[in-house]
Amino acid sequence: MAIEKLLIANRGEIALRIHRACHEMGIKTVAVHSTADADAMHVRLADEAICIGPPAAKYSYLNIAAIISAAEISGADAIHPGYGFLSENAKFAEIVEAHGLAFVGPKPEHIRTMGDKIEAKRTAGALGLPLVPGSDGAVSDVEEARAIADAAGYPVIIKAASGGGGRGMKVCTSPDQLETLMQQAGSEAKAAFGDATVYIEKYLGNPRHIEIQVFGDGNGNAIHLGERDCSLQRRHQKVLEEAPSPVLSQAERERIGGICAKAMADMGYRGAGTIEFLWENGEFYFIEMNTRLQVEHPVTEMITGLDLVREQIRVAEGKPLSVNQEDIRFTGHAIECRINAEDPKTFAPSPGTVTSYHVPGGMHVRVDSGLYQGYKVPPYYDSMIGKLIVYGRTREGAIMRLRRALEEYVIEGMKTTIPLHQALLKDPEFLNGDYTIKWLEEWLAREDGQ
Ligand code: ADP
Repeated sequence: MAIEKLLIANRGEIALRIHRACHEMGIKTVAVHSTADADAMHVRLADEAICIGPPAAKYSYLNIAAIISAAEISGADAIHPGYGFLSENAKFAEIVEAHGLAFVGPKPEHIRTMGDKIEAKRTAGALGLPLVPGSDGAVSDVEEARAIADAAGYPVIIKAASGGGGRGMKVCTSPDQLETLMQQAGSEAKAAFGDATVYIEKYLGNPRHIEIQVFGDGNGNAIHLGERDCSLQRRHQKVLEEAPSPVLSQAERERIGGICAKAMADMGYRGAGTIEFLWENGEFYFIEMNTRLQVEHPVTEMITGLDLVREQIRVAEGKPLSVNQEDIRFTGHAIECRINAEDPKTFAPSPGTVTSYHVPGGMHVRVDSGLYQGYKVPPYYDSMIGKLIVYGRTREGAIMRLRRALEEYVIEGMKTTIPLHQALLKDPEFLNGDYTIKWLEEWLAREDGQ
């Protein structure tokens, strides 16, 4: 089937990103928006726009009935969920398909499997992905937990099966704490997620976060598009991402990428996906799979030249992947800075009206943002207001270009994290690529002390 009109069930920069891919493919777009987003850039650019509810996401961007009605009224034949909101809601994907619309995303059963942490780990293991040593599923019995922790070696991490967003985890450093921490983790998980189920993993002391981009056609063919290093995180939120990772060799990339692509082919996976790993001492350990497009996908686009949203739409139309693994060439280096409307020191949200705006340009500079002069950043949603992505032939070249682009970027009317990125890009350890998932928080604490 050929998609002629696509409804974008999202907001902000990703809605604009999807709109752009659609118009480059000759596909008409329908924007759905809350009352707070009536003036958003993607709403202005879309061929049609439908208001689906009040500012609170629960009544608008998460309102399945309103979104499906908007698709029916506008005559859209496909829905792209973007990231966040309904993108990993298997029920939503099923409802979209039950209405005869194409869901630009994976098969609902794969969203469901990967959305359940224990099920995801079991599936990943069966597909041959390397796992973090630990329990084989849920653990409720303390004696069983002791045996697992002894085998894995302390410290261990007790995780809530229904946890998410970095919540619902407890690190246990010695056997005498195990029973208490398991009880605590269980009751906290019950209170936060309505499910007391926990499982146990070895706690990795100082890993990097390295994720592999995969793509499947849903018919048993799949490729990988290399890795992204997303180790620079604050409170489990990614701040800056780069591809390739400063620590992987081409041989290691091909090895882990090959394992991931084969797993996706065996699964019959459809569309874009990201397999997240912790990486320590040369070893990969699966932590989760995201069954959607990621915020940081542009760094992969820059080093492969492939438009991932276009590819997602083609696959949703039932077409084969436009490239084979042998066609993929990784060239140069790309870095993305997430720019948030936040105080760069305290990270307090700072929404406001853009009083002055100037976007950097020049060779190999990309800005994905819905901002414009006079735009009012609404306070109801995520604080990310844009992404600045640059490409260079080498990592050093990309860093120099990023510094230059950040210097040019003017956003007045609110505080942004641009100064944070500028400071980071001067740090010798960052310049050496010498960082792990703990590094940024330690760096912030040091900067704070000065
Ligand atoms: P969530 O779904 O809540 O994001 P993840 O399983 O992806 O949970 O883990 C979130 C973060 O917690 C990881 O990025 C990492 O920083 C930390 N983490 C998770 N598992 C481990 C582990 N076994 N050892 C060390 N850190 C871990």
